[in-house]
Parts: sequence; C-alpha cells; structure tokens
Amino acid sequence: MGTTVIGNATLVTMNAAREVLRGDLTLVDGRIAAVGAAVGAAVGGAVGGAADARAPERIDGTGLVALPGLVQTHIHLCQTLFRNAAEGLELLDWLKERIWPFEAAHDAASLAASARLGICELLRGGTTTLLDMGTVRHTEEIFRAAEASGIRLVGGKAMMDQGAGVPAGLREGTRAALDESDALATAWHGAAGGRLRYAYAPRFVLSCTRELFEEVGRRARARGLMIHTHASENRREGEAVRALLGQSDIEYFHELGLTGPGLALAHCVWPNARETGILAETGTRVAHCPGSNCKLGSGIAPIPELLAAGVQVSLGADGAPCNNRLDAFDEMRLAGLLASVRLGPTALAARRLVELATIEGARALGLETEIGSLEPGKRADVILVDLARAHAAPGDDLYARLVYAARSTDVRAVLVDGRVLVRDGRTLTLDEAETVARAESELTRLRARVAR
Ligand SMILES: [Zn+2]
Repeated sequence: MGTTVIGNATLVTMNAAREVLRGDLTLVDGRIAAVGAAVGAAVGGAVGGAADARAPERIDGTGLVALPGLVQTHIHLCQTLFRNAAEGLELLDWLKERIWPFEAAHDAASLAASARLGICELLRGGTTTLLDMGTVRHTEEIFRAAEASGIRLVGGKAMMDQGAGVPAGLREGTRAALDESDALATAWHGAAGGRLRYAYAPRFVLSCTRELFEEVGRRARARGLMIHTHASENRREGEAVRALLGQSDIEYFHELGLTGPGLALAHCVWPNARETGILAETGTRVAHCPGSNCKLGSGIAPIPELLAAGVQVSLGADGAPCNNRLDAFDEMRLAGLLASVRLGPTALAARRLVELATIEGARALGLETEIGSLEPGKRADVILVDLARAHAAPGDDLYARLVYAARSTDVRAVLVDGRVLVRDGRTLTLDEAETVARAESELTRLRARVAR
C-alpha cells in the first residue's frame, strides 16, 4: 500500500493525553507510523524491496488541522433516498406512514443508490466510520457500497418479526430473520481487510418478538458480534412499550441479558434513574442523535447526566429523513447547544464533544485500539479540516473552532486505512453528481412501487 506523509499539519491527536502536535503524520501500509515527527524526517520502510521503491505520497497539511476520522454510531443508509420526504411527523407516525412503506419498496438497485448517496455525504463531511442499521431485505447492497467506497462500516440487517403497522414487505419470520443475519455475518464480518463488520440489528421492541431478542443475544455471544437497536426514543413509543411488556425497553434488554459493552442503543432520550444505572453499570453504549431527536420532536437526551453517571456515549445523525443531514459536525454542535440550553454553557465542553465524535465513537464499536485517535499503530483513518475560512477563524481554542465554527464542508481530505477517499473536498470513490442523479432516478422508480 505504501507510505503517505501528511506534512506540516496541526495534529489534534485525541490520544490519552489529548495532545495537539505540529508536524508530519506518517502513514505506512494503512496504519499510522509516526505522529508529529519533524517535518521531512526519514520514514521507516522507505528503503528496501520493490514495493517500497515508490516515493511516499505527500499531502500538504500546511494550515490544516488533522483529526482522527469522525465516527457516527447510528445511521440508516437505507433511508437516505427518503431525505426531505417525511416531514412534520412524530416517530411512530413517521415510521408507519412514510418510512416503513418506503423501506418495504426498496429493491437491490434503490438500496444501493440510497447507501451510495449516504456514504458520499458521510465521507465528504469527514465521517470515516459508521454503525448502520440496514433494512429487512437486500442489506448486502449496503455492504457492497461500503466495500467499494472505502468507508469503514459496522452494519446489520434490520430485523422485524412482529408489530402493528409493519408492511408485509418488511415483516418476516423469526427464523428467517436470524438465518439471513447469520448468512450476512458470515459473508461480511471482517471483509475488506477488517474494514467491514457485522452487528445484529433487531429494529426496536415494538417490531421484534422476545424470542428474536433472546436468540440474537445467544448468537451475538457465540460469534462475538455487537447488537444494535433503538431504545427510549419517544414518549408515545415508551408508553406502547410499557403497555406491551410492563417495563421499559432498557429494563427488558437488561432482563434478557443483552446489556453490556456489546449492545449499542440509539437515542436513550427518556431514561429514568434506574435505567441510567443499568446503562452505566453494564457499559451499554448509547448513540446520542440530537438532530433526529429535535427534528422528530422526541426530546432532549440527558447527555451530561448520562456521562456523569459513567455511561458510554457517542454521536450519530440517525437517518436522512429525520435530520435531514448525515453530518457529524452538526451533531457535535447541536449536542453542545442542547446541553447548554438545559444545564448552562459549561455542561459539555467542546473537547468532550470532539471525544464523543472520535475516540468514544470508536469505543462504542469496540474499536478503540484500532481507530479514534492519531497514534502510532492505529489504522490510518484521518481527516484534514481547513479552519482558516472566514466563518472559523481566528482563535486558539481548536476544539471550540471545530465544534461550533467549522462546517463539514471545511473537510478537505479524508483517508481510511491510509487510502485517500476525499481530496480537495471531492469524493474520489463516488462521483457526487452521478450518485445524486442515480438516487433521483431510483427514487422515482421506488415511488412508483410504493403507489402500486
Ligand atoms: Zn434510528
């Protein structure tokens, strides 16, 4: 793969000491080899065999800030095609009236177009890793799109084996849901040099039987895979869960033995003290999705309180139709603003927000030894941000500039496993205009299928 040197950048490392360094970032064979070495220093492995004979690729980082690639721990790539098409609805109506009928109408081509559109946006905006909840059918198209694009993906097929208002096209038998999930895990977990990973994804309590959750727990433990689901998102949903189970979804997952570091829960907007205790004691992961929670009117998750209790928190944009962007910079900024509105401007420091979007996102996925900071030995997932634009300059507080002033369009370059995927603000593995055009034509075809 060779050597790439990002020269003369400001390096926001997010290492344990949270060092900010200046100098070169040297990437060798997809991993970080040196951080902040003197500009122009010799690189190990630069002499020797034929593969090393190539001169290192150089990226000029002068005036740019290098960060670990941003991690979003709750995304629905299958929904990107439905952006701007499900306005003015609360969660359960949003699902039943718009999202589920759209998802049920996906075929392989429309799902591929939806995934590519989302990945194009994510990469362009500096997100290098995502945890994705797929849809019930054709989820292999999401893995194929991720494989081709170069992004790092932990994903799984959404499972739905019960539920009021679930269209026939999304409902399947418990056994079929589990067996297809296993087949996808076998095909994709560890693929693309470990860049793609599988997570079991039972959608949420209202669409999944107890038998399904229990069996997911058994299979996830047996295979060492994560479980990704939704919890405590919306009050009406919470009431429906209590009516069904006599307890909350978080309590139910705990009773089923699913809670722990291998469980990633999207939202957790309404946890009570007991539920917060469960999340903290078990190390269960919470994906905070402030943009989605605002857009659907779900509420404001008590993130400073969860963090103070010791809950592991990271960030995600959720799906395009409830946000309507998949923008990690937006989510950092909004998480900070919402905490400030509730508890005052010191509730969540800008550096903490960058942590949630980088090293804590990596930890949520069990990948904190592989990604999430700029440290020797880690995978070379790096973004370069231009903070010299009029809206982000000047100032010494890099974290405040990144969270509150920078925009995703300030991302100039993106690398995953050392491979350059965005250069000069342009995606290299996906042609943006072609990706948008394909999405529009597939949406037209999908809408015709919905109408039938
Ligand atoms: Zn979601």
